[in-house]
Amino acid sequence: MLPNDFRMKSTYGVGTDWPINYQQLEPHYQQAEREIGVSANVEDQRYLGLTFPPGYVYPMKKVPQSYLDRRLTRAVAGMKVRYGQEDYEVFVSSTPQGRNSIPHPDYDGGKGYKPAGSVDDPDIGQRCEGNSSCIPICPVQAKYNAMKSLQAARRHMVEVIYQAVASRLELDPETRRISGITYKRYDRPSAPTFTTHTVRARLYVLAGNAIENPKLLLASGGLANSSEQVGRNLMDHPILLTWGLMPENIGAFRGPGSTSGIESLRDGAFRRHRGGYRIEIDNWGWNFAANSPYSDVSTFVTQKNLFGKALRTRLRDTVSRQLRLGFLVEQLPDPDNRVTISEDWKTQLGEYRPVIHYRISEYELAAFAAAKATSDLIYQRVGVEDFTQYDTGDPGYVTYMGQGYKYNGSGHLVGTHRIGSDPKSSVTNADLRSWDHDNLYLVGAGSMPTIGTSNPTLTLTALVFKAAQSMLKELR
Ligand code: SF4
Repeated sequence: MLPNDFRMKSTYGVGTDWPINYQQLEPHYQQAEREIGVSANVEDQRYLGLTFPPGYVYPMKKVPQSYLDRRLTRAVAGMKVRYGQEDYEVFVSSTPQGRNSIPHPDYDGGKGYKPAGSVDDPDIGQRCEGNSSCIPICPVQAKYNAMKSLQAARRHMVEVIYQAVASRLELDPETRRISGITYKRYDRPSAPTFTTHTVRARLYVLAGNAIENPKLLLASGGLANSSEQVGRNLMDHPILLTWGLMPENIGAFRGPGSTSGIESLRDGAFRRHRGGYRIEIDNWGWNFAANSPYSDVSTFVTQKNLFGKALRTRLRDTVSRQLRLGFLVEQLPDPDNRVTISEDWKTQLGEYRPVIHYRISEYELAAFAAAKATSDLIYQRVGVEDFTQYDTGDPGYVTYMGQGYKYNGSGHLVGTHRIGSDPKSSVTNADLRSWDHDNLYLVGAGSMPTIGTSNPTLTLTALVFKAAQSMLKELR
C-alpha cells in the first residue's frame, strides 16, 4: 500500500486513518515478502512515496514483462492525463508477484533465497512455467498458496484438524477472556453428521479473513463488538474492465495473467472526491471480459459460418490482438456494507451463513467515469479499436451522470474488524488484539481500515507478522 493509503482522513478528508503508518509496517512487509516469496524489482516499485531500506532486494527477480507490457510501455511514454487541476504521468511498471521467478543472489545479505515449490513435490514448481492457468490455481504451485505456509508450520508444532468448522467462541464472564472455541467435526459433506469438541488455549487467533471472522464473532453472541464495528466497512476493489483490439499481434494468452500495470494514477488530490485506481494490463486477452477464446470460436462458427482454415486464420488474427485493461477502484469504508447473520440462513451443520450487504457509492462511481475516460485516451494513443460493451442486464451494471458502466468484484475483501487507536470506533488495536478480550487476536484482511488500490494479501500478511510479534511477547 502507498504511504497516503494509511492516512486518508488526514490527507484527503475521507475514509479513516490507520493507527500505524507505512514506515512502521515496512519491516513487516519485508517479512511478508520472504514468506510469500515475492518476485519484483525495487527500482520499478519506487513510486508515489514507496521507500525501501538501502540495498534491499526482493527474494526473487521480477517476473519478465510480457511482449504486450513492453509494447504499451513504449506507446504511453511521455503521456499525461489531467485530473482536476493537475497532470499525472502515465507509465507502465512491472507488478510484484507471489509467483516463483529467479531467486535473487543478493537477497538476505548475499545468502540468496530458496523458492518453495509444490507442497506435494518440492522439486516442481520452483519456477513459473508461464503456461497461463494461474486462476484459480497454479498446477505446479509456482504461485504462492497458503498450503506452503501451513506445511512449513506443520513441521514444527501446528496440528491441522480437517473436516471441522469453528462454531462458537466461549467467554469467561468474570475475566472477559476467551476460554475456548467449540468446533464441529463432520464426516460426509453431502449429509453430514457431526461431533462437537472444544479447544482451550492461552491465546486465540481467528484467521478466517473478512467474511468468516466477523460471522464467527456474531454467531458467538456478538463478541469483541463493543464498538459495534464487527462485520461493518466491508470493502472490495470494484473492477471496471475495458477491452479492444490492438493494431497488431501482441501475443495474447501467454504467461501469467498480468505482469505489469499502470500504477501512477493510484494517488493524488482527486482522492478527495473519487477513488484512485491501479490499471492492470492483462496478458489473457478478453478472457475475463468476454470469455475469450471460447466465445470467439462460438461467434465465428455460429454467426460468421467459419470452419477449417478460415476459422483458424480468423481466430489467430483476432485472439492474438486482444487487449484488456482492468481498473481496480479504491472503495471507501461504509458502515452499511457489512456481514451479518440471520436465523433464516444456516448450513447443514446448523451454522450461520454470512449474509452480505454491499453497495457502491458516488466515490467509486466517479472513479468509474474517470477510468473509462482514461481508457479512451490510452486506446486513442495506442491505436486500439475499442470493443468495450456494458450489458444493462448485468448485476454489476450501474449508471453515473447518464453513462452506463459495469463492475465486477475482485475478491479483495477487507475491513470487517478494523484496527484502530480508539476502542469506540475499531475492533482491535494496531497489534490486531481485541479491545474487549485481551487473549483474542483477529488476523486477515478484515483488519484493514481502508483498502487503497493494491491487492491486500501482502498487507494482511505484514499485519499478521506484526500481530505474531505481540503474541510471542505475550506468551513469553
Ligand atoms: S503461469 Fe501461472 S499457472 Fe503457469 S506456472 Fe506460472 S504461476 Fe503457475
